[in-house]
Amino acid sequence: MMLAMLPLARRLVTVLVPLVFTSLSGAQAPGAEQGLTLASPPQTSVIVLHAAHLLDVEQGVLVSPGEVLVRGNHIAEAGSSVSHPAGARVVHLGSETLMPGLIDAHVHLFLHPGAEDMQTVVESAAQRTILATLAARADLMGGFTAERDMGTEGVGAASVAVRNAIDEGLIPGPRLRVSANAISILGGHEDAIHFNPAQHILPNADYANDRHELIATIRQQLKDGADFIKIYQTGHDRMVNGVLVTPYQYTAAQLAAAVAEAARMGTRVGVHAMGEPGTLYAAQAGVASIEHAYQLSPETMRLMREKQIYAVPTFQIGEYFASHAPTPQLAAFMKAIYAYHVAEFHKQLAANVPMAVGSDVGPFPHGTQARELVLMHQNGMPTADVFRADLLHGSQLLGWQDEIGQLKPGYDADVIAVPGDPLTDIDVVTKVNFVMKNGVVFRDDAATATVDRGAQ
Ligand SMILES: [Zn+2]
Repeated sequence: MMLAMLPLARRLVTVLVPLVFTSLSGAQAPGAEQGLTLASPPQTSVIVLHAAHLLDVEQGVLVSPGEVLVRGNHIAEAGSSVSHPAGARVVHLGSETLMPGLIDAHVHLFLHPGAEDMQTVVESAAQRTILATLAARADLMGGFTAERDMGTEGVGAASVAVRNAIDEGLIPGPRLRVSANAISILGGHEDAIHFNPAQHILPNADYANDRHELIATIRQQLKDGADFIKIYQTGHDRMVNGVLVTPYQYTAAQLAAAVAEAARMGTRVGVHAMGEPGTLYAAQAGVASIEHAYQLSPETMRLMREKQIYAVPTFQIGEYFASHAPTPQLAAFMKAIYAYHVAEFHKQLAANVPMAVGSDVGPFPHGTQARELVLMHQNGMPTADVFRADLLHGSQLLGWQDEIGQLKPGYDADVIAVPGDPLTDIDVVTKVNFVMKNGVVFRDDAATATVDRGAQ
């Protein structure tokens, strides 16, 4: 009986082996049997991706059909047709649209749903790091090939280890720019202020109460391996007579010192800043991005335009909290503040504030955050501009502007496919079914055994 089953079993294996990680890229790299093939394929690997369309992000148009020639981990050619070198593996993606891998400029790999619960208090650093590796995998499978981790919320530079493991090909995940903990003042945003003082609950952030402490903390975080600095600039938030009110944490001069210290080391500062005057101080100091940006004065918006400081709206977290609030009162507050944000976003679009795309994923499930692009469109941004914000501005914000974010010769081969036209139906970005990062295929749902998916 077992012998009789063998041919069928072998056939099933042949047909159902998913084309992920290495099988599309041809010969396995040295060390494949140890699972060390996730970082990049052999330089001899040649793949042609063929689909109905390709998204030209700069022009905001579809090119039809769409083809990308990938050699090793780089894009060699892209357009309506590319050369098909002898021996190249041709991946047919039917009616889909090829586009650059998505960028999420605001993630928390070290948070999972229930972030307003006690997870940062009761879960160990080891436990949280294991979950972060799963989060990184989920985000990659959702089409995000590059991300900025905006704070581990209490486990310091553990994100450095996750970033390095991904870069070394030990685990699947997006390419990452990581901060360590955020930096905050004593009693500031997300400090552990509602606990029994006798229990001495630790904050999620690293304390820095003045200019000197800011500089020392930044030096420590960069020493620990952080790529950039995250600072909490406002909080705790309230709505007073329909207007957001939020205290600032650092003066413009203090933030300027932080920005200068980061710049000395070749990096930048992103701030959590919900509203005025904290957002103005951040813009005056020349931060790289203002996260959330619910309230920006005309002067703040002018400075952001002038200095190309990105607003990162993070709508999805607001939508999620509004629909998952533990009490009716909190739900009402979250709905009110979301509506306020949308109204302010309209003003920001009219003022041409530079925008990047970040979801704040973590408190809601990893891998689902492509909805952020849908929400930016829903809230008033044309789809072509959403993709420019995500891919062109996102790659600049992450410091990879000449490497990712476009399907162009010489760029790293971060390519996804979506089932349809993302310019007319942006919701297709939530249905990514093909993911290549750095020339390695990580997801290919539609194909099974054959590299050739059939009719073009
Ligand atoms: Zn965040």
